[in-house]
Amino acid sequence: MAKLHEYEGKALLKNVGIAVPEGRVANTPEEAATIAAEIKSPVVIKMQAWTTGRADMGGIKFADTPEEAQKRAGEILGTKVKNFIVDSVLVEQKLNIEQEYYAGVIIDDKSGKPMMIFSSVGGTGIEEIAKEHPDKVARLSIDVIEGLRDYQARELLRQTGITGKLQLKIAVVLVKLFDLAKKYEARAAEINPLVITEEGALIAADCRVTVDDSAVFRHPELGIEIARELDRPPSKLDKIAWDVEKDDYRGTFYFIQMAQGFSKEENYVGFHGAGGGGSMMSMDALINKGFKIANFVDTSGNPPASKVYRAAKIILSQKNIVGYFGSGSGVASQEQFHSARGLVKAFREENLSIPVVIRLGGNQEDRAVEILTEYTKDLPVPVEGYKKNDSADFCAERMQSLVESFEQNSVEVERFQPPLQEKPYSFKTLTGEIIYDHALCADCTDKPCIASCEPEILKLENDLPVLAISEEEAAKGKCTECLACEQECHFFGNKGAYISLPIEGLSG
Ligand code: SF4
Ligand code: SF4
Repeated sequence: MAKLHEYEGKALLKNVGIAVPEGRVANTPEEAATIAAEIKSPVVIKMQAWTTGRADMGGIKFADTPEEAQKRAGEILGTKVKNFIVDSVLVEQKLNIEQEYYAGVIIDDKSGKPMMIFSSVGGTGIEEIAKEHPDKVARLSIDVIEGLRDYQARELLRQTGITGKLQLKIAVVLVKLFDLAKKYEARAAEINPLVITEEGALIAADCRVTVDDSAVFRHPELGIEIARELDRPPSKLDKIAWDVEKDDYRGTFYFIQMAQGFSKEENYVGFHGAGGGGSMMSMDALINKGFKIANFVDTSGNPPASKVYRAAKIILSQKNIVGYFGSGSGVASQEQFHSARGLVKAFREENLSIPVVIRLGGNQEDRAVEILTEYTKDLPVPVEGYKKNDSADFCAERMQSLVESFEQNSVEVERFQPPLQEKPYSFKTLTGEIIYDHALCADCTDKPCIASCEPEILKLENDLPVLAISEEEAAKGKCTECLACEQECHFFGNKGAYISLPIEGLSG
């Protein structure tokens, strides 16, 4: 679920006609002072962070004057919450609250329908409120096509003891809130609290809107950078990884950065999982051995080698990780040697300086481990491959032992890199480009690129490798980006093949 900040959610509420406090977002203490001066009344300054308990962590402060607003905003901006720096605050009019309510539309997973919930007792923890005051909380399952009718909203409110003019007034808000949730395909749209002020105004004092990941692409107007559930704004690496994933339908690549700015002494490991459950178990195994997790990655659902390669490059770009640990379900149905090829390319292109342990359990694991270990055995770091019968705990133990005993040596290794390209022959793939240097190919005896290409899209013409299909077909995905031709060429051919798979925004 992609979350919106409070100020973004409030902009949507305002657009559909639900009143919100006067105010706007500030990125500096000076801006906060300017906004407070515009409001001309006491203000509240609220940390814009996707976290609960902002008040307890000092993320909500009050100020009577612009000067005080500047000071309070300065106390919030720049603080660290869950490994990220707070860079914005919402400065808005302080309300004189007389009564608080809760109003929310959530998708009820059981019925698969949206559900409107209203509580005439506001505050946090709607489930607890429902237990303590069952007569104050009412729910209604809503037909998506029909929508929420005005009379249904009034009946819902009646069940919680709201009557008269107030019932009419709040019913209008509930109908608008449902329309908003439907329009933006929200998983949840909550106003908490919805308040009546001493002056009699009905205002959304705080809100939380989350949008279904799969619907994000239909709503560019929301400016959601990453359709992922994050509890903080996306990091640079989160965005780079999302750019890799968003237009590549082949398999899944899920990346979440979990820490930044750490030192080597803190013992962070780059984590590369495959499959949710097995990945969780593997991360636990690492933590039990005293490691911390720098990132969560899942490449599963039969991703091409190119996607695994990009995932590995992104993991390796994290400074100060002490090891690279790959481990997933252990019984994956996807052919594991594709992952092995992706890892090999990343490890050979990088100036690898940390030990690696990869558990490639599952379909074709023997071939996968052989590719991984054989094609990395000349690297100046240990790269160990394991199979399904090797437990995640055992692999974590190996990681621990390798990290503890690891000493960098400075062996020069021949990396995968573009050939001289005296006579380049190239074609586009779905996300990259393949180059064969026909000058080198002319002196290649066995031409292993041809036999290694399982989709059989290569042929020899005048004894040189060329496409056996059209360039358009190759670019549309007939070249599966399996990376086999490059690797077999490097080890058994004349090093005339190179596959370029750019990763936008990734430096180094
Ligand atoms: S294996 Fe490499 S050098 Fe040999 S023909 Fe194929 S691309 Fe050219
Ligand atoms: S040309 Fe063939 S071997 Fe090379 S990456 Fe494409 S599918 Fe794989």
